[in-house]
Formats: sequence, structure tokens, C-alpha cells
Amino acid sequence: MSAAIRVEGLVKTYGGRHPVRALDGVDLDVPEGTVLGLLGPNGAGKTTVVRILAGLLRPDAGQARVLGLDVARDPERVRALIGLSGQYAAVDDTLTARENLVLVGRLHHLGKRNSSARATELLDRFGLTEARDRVVKGFSGGMRRRLDLAAALVAEPAVLFLDEPTTGLDPRSRMDLWDVLAELVASGTTLLLTTQYLEEADRLADAIAVVDHGRVIARGTADELKERVGGERVSVVVRDRARLDAAVAALDGLGLAPPRAEPRTRGITLPVRGGARVLMEALRRLDAVGIELDDAALRKPTLDDVFLGLTGHAARPADANADADAADPDAAATAGSRA
Ligand code: ATP
Repeated sequence: MSAAIRVEGLVKTYGGRHPVRALDGVDLDVPEGTVLGLLGPNGAGKTTVVRILAGLLRPDAGQARVLGLDVARDPERVRALIGLSGQYAAVDDTLTARENLVLVGRLHHLGKRNSSARATELLDRFGLTEARDRVVKGFSGGMRRRLDLAAALVAEPAVLFLDEPTTGLDPRSRMDLWDVLAELVASGTTLLLTTQYLEEADRLADAIAVVDHGRVIARGTADELKERVGGERVSVVVRDRARLDAAVAALDGLGLAPPRAEPRTRGITLPVRGGARVLMEALRRLDAVGIELDDAALRKPTLDDVFLGLTGHAARPADANADADAADPDAAATAGSRA
């Protein structure tokens, strides 16, 4: 299988008074017809990779090739072959959904009739037929995302770049979009997707590259990454912060690594093997020393866990966790296994 996307030694520093080395030597290889998930926290460098690959930004060093073309040398040809969707506000707020798609078709020289037919087909595929004659300004975030993605698909690109396609969507819209993307991939599109959600990469990607501080710090399938950080977590929230240390002591030795306490949330997490049985044992131990809990769960590793396991630091700043968790699809996975 030949590589649809190949990136070697990409380096990019943004200038200014405090220069930021956004990419520090990134290598990537995406075989044709496969999906690569670029997984990393805010500021890891994901968008910078996508912008370079789409010919919107020049790297300081390294090479990016898309479908055999050197992006720095042939940015326009590359842009004509790819689809790009994400944090770029590609759709025009003052036009209707249909007008936007037809316009994109015309920009790609599809001709009037073909542009119109393609718009009809995509509006249907993305559930926007009813909204087709409404001006985009009044669209919800989810509708906008779908339209943006539809616009990226007008010219039927063989390679598609999606920059955090589901950030900000509610769980239902996120799952709908995953279905559409899975269909696209099944039809042979090569996809590079950036995301902050392990579950999203898990669902869609054949391979995952974990990015942190402009470097790829791990590669593998979702299962391989989870295995590397331990498959499951027991997490509990103690009622009384003063008993946190006692709870950690009670749980010591039960997991694959020492329990990790977070005083701010009164939470303790530990990677375990053995599922519900270990959760029961944890509850027994805590009960035996009289520790009361507000919550207890067995859950799959989140991106935070993968990051912590791989880098020793959290994926998101501590003060961002509360908000981010509310929107984290991994959080939904714990709901069914709450004790
Ligand atoms: P996010 O999820 O927030 O989009 P990301 O992983 O896509 O994050 P990038 O947007 O690529 O990360 O940013 C990488 C680093 O480069 C960050 O530290 C960011 O602040 C910095 N950066 C990005 N764009 C610029 C710019 N135009 N000028 C200066 N610094 C920038």
C-alpha cells in the first residue's frame, strides 16, 4: 500500500516576542485508504500539522507529501485534491446551506448542473435537506459542523483532513458524525483526523499518533495504547478530603500502579486488571477503614490516563478538567458501570 500522506521531520516555530516551537520533528505515514488519528491536548501541534499538510502554512524544516506531491512546492495542486474541515470557518454565514455547497462546487469547476446535484446529494447525506434554504447564520453548532464537512466533500477528495471534527458537539451529534465518517472511510477515503478524544480515535482510526509539545510520543492502535497505560481504571471520590491519604493507603497494592489522588476533586484513580472484581475489593477495603464515598466507577482509560501514563503529566491543565470532562465522550462510558 502506498502512502497517501507522508511527513518527515516537520519543524515549525511561530515567531513573535515569545517564539513557540509548535512542531519539533514530526514524522507520519498514512497508507492510502486508512485513517490516522492525531491525538493530543490543546496546543500539542495538531492544527499546525494539518495546516502544513493543506498547504496553508510553510514548515521551517522537513517535508510533507500528499498523494506524492510535495506540499511546499505544489500547495495549489494539493489543495485541489484534498478536503479540509475543522476550525477554519469555511462556510459563509450569509448564504444558505445549499448556496454554500453549490458555491464550493463552482469553485472546484464542477459546472452548474453537477454542483447542484452534488449539493442535493450532500445535503441529504448530512441530514440538512430541510434546512437547505436557511441562512447559515442561524445554524446550531452541529449543523454548521455537518455543513462544513459536506463542503469539504463536494469535490470528492481522496484525502480528507479533519481538525477536531466533533469538538463542541453534543454526544448524539458526535455519534451521527462518526457514522458518516465511518461510511466515507469504508468507501476508500484516506483520512487524517485530529482529536482530543481517545474514544473518537478509537472508533475511527486504524492507527493513532499521540502528539505532545510538537512531538509524536507514541504510536499504535487504540488497543495498543490502552494496553500500554493499563486497560481499566477504578476511580473513587471520597466524601471527606481529610481521608484522602487514608483511602490511598487502603488501596495501595491493589492496582497495576500506585493509586493517584487528586485533592481538588477528592478523586483517586488506579489502573487495574480484573474488572468488577477489583472494584468490589476496592470498595471492601475502603469500607473496612470507614471511608465514605461520593462516587465509585470502573472505567476505560481516557486521554488523560493515556497522557499521564505516557508523559507523566496530564493532558489538560487541572483547571480545564471540570469543563472538559462534561463534554468528554469517555465520561459516558463510565455511566453504565457506576457502582
Ligand atoms: P488546539 O487543539 O488548541 O487547536 P493543537 O494541538 O492544534 O491545539 P496548534 O494549534 O498546532 O495545537 O498549536 C501548537 C502551538 O503553537 C501552541 O502552543 C499554540 O499556542 C502555538 N501557535 C499556534 N498558532 C500560532 C500562531 N499563529 N502564532 C503563534 N503561536 C501559535
